[in-house]
Amino acid sequence: MRIAIVGCGQLSRMMALAGLPLGIKFSFIQDDIKQSTVCVEGLGLIHQSPKKDKDTKDYDAKDIKQLYHDLGKPDCITVEKEQVDLDLLRVLSTLCPIFPSVDAIRSCQHRGKEKNLLSNLDIPTSPYFLNTSAVTAAKTLGYPIMVKSCTEGYDGKNQWRINNSSDAKHFDELNIQEYIIEAFMPFDKEISLISVRSKQGHIEHYSLTDNVHEKGILTRSIAPAVNISDQFRLKAQAYMESLLNELDYVGVMAMECFVIGEQLMINELAPRVHNSGHWTQLGSITCQFENHIRAIAGIQLGSTKQISPTGMLNIIGIEKPSFELLAENTKLYWYNKSVKPLRKLGHINFIGKNHKVVSQQMALFD
Ligand code: AMP
Repeated sequence: MRIAIVGCGQLSRMMALAGLPLGIKFSFIQDDIKQSTVCVEGLGLIHQSPKKDKDTKDYDAKDIKQLYHDLGKPDCITVEKEQVDLDLLRVLSTLCPIFPSVDAIRSCQHRGKEKNLLSNLDIPTSPYFLNTSAVTAAKTLGYPIMVKSCTEGYDGKNQWRINNSSDAKHFDELNIQEYIIEAFMPFDKEISLISVRSKQGHIEHYSLTDNVHEKGILTRSIAPAVNISDQFRLKAQAYMESLLNELDYVGVMAMECFVIGEQLMINELAPRVHNSGHWTQLGSITCQFENHIRAIAGIQLGSTKQISPTGMLNIIGIEKPSFELLAENTKLYWYNKSVKPLRKLGHINFIGKNHKVVSQQMALFD
């Protein structure tokens, strides 16, 4: 069996590293010429996606067939990111299945569509306006408000906090297209749920995870999330199940949430493996990467059971830590990328008998 992945970053790398021991071969589609392929070099065939025809603004079927052939005729194709050209997926889907489906990726690729999906399923999300003036939106939402572009926003990119009416007026003058304006949520903490659905519709959930973001970028996670009642966990799982079933989803999905008292509010969905699930590489019987590959390959899902409390620290914008710093209960995952400010270059997973031990280990790296 061969799986092709759109994207050549660290998530593709970790999916391949988890799938290779199952005897699955991998190929990678470099859909963005600016993205380096260094993360996936040596793990399979790498090919660039063709350019669209200037006149028809679509792909030439011959070019796509050639790409499919060059990729080693994969049995299915998946993605490491939601910001993928849907036209590319659509033409590739005539040659082999795409998991999750193009429609599922479309729903999570655009913040307006994602909000609609959540509202239609009665899943709580922060109140918002689509393409409305900031001054008008603030009349209902109050300040501060968050402006987020509908597409191309991740790791806090393309989103701004507006604190007062003069900033709102300034924003309105910029004439930005396609954005949502959201109420600012005074959350107690941020958590995420990573789940996986098989082709037969079987769903497994990982433990809820506590996440800390700085300047919109995830810096650390710890699982299981603390001070979460069973009722709260079951509520998060029920929301996830209704989303996965509605989308007839196959593979791993991540749901990022705000916790406000006893209220759970969904901030964002990711139709893919997710940074807040990296801890599963050390802390669960089957990690999120392997379970995504199992789901899309039609292999029975592995157990998502957690082995022990686990933490994850992202290494952002700094050189690889020295191996001497790594204690016996930690593991380093380095992505081979060149060092650049704010770039996610690797992560460390920490396992321990309780949260205190895990947090103490993590603090040594701060
Ligand atoms: P996002 O790109 O939507 O995942 O946002 C990145 C981070 O920005 C989140 O994890 C939060 O820490 C913060 N953030 C996003 N939206 C809001 C909001 N409506 N209210 C408060 N903080 C937010």
